[in-house]
Amino acid sequence: MGIPVVEQKRCTGCRECISVCEVNAIEIVDEKAIIDYGRCYGDTESCRACIEICPQGAIFEME
Ligand code: SF4
Ligand code: SF4
Repeated sequence: MGIPVVEQKRCTGCRECISVCEVNAIEIVDEKAIIDYGRCYGDTESCRACIEICPQGAIFEME
């Protein structure tokens, strides 16, 4: 388990990660995904939804 981190250079702002995050922890600012770590529970439970859906491989898991 770890927190999802967006590699800004790869993100195209496609919003697919937003569509799968059930706690609305992701927003797009200037066409880049930003994760709200106050909402994301990836560090305490096993959620990799945004990581798995990203077509650019722009989100990785940091332990
Ligand atoms: S799915 Fe990937 S490329 Fe699309 S907005 Fe999210 S982080 Fe960016
Ligand atoms: S790991 Fe899960 S809860 Fe956290 S931002 Fe991604 S989809 Fe949302």
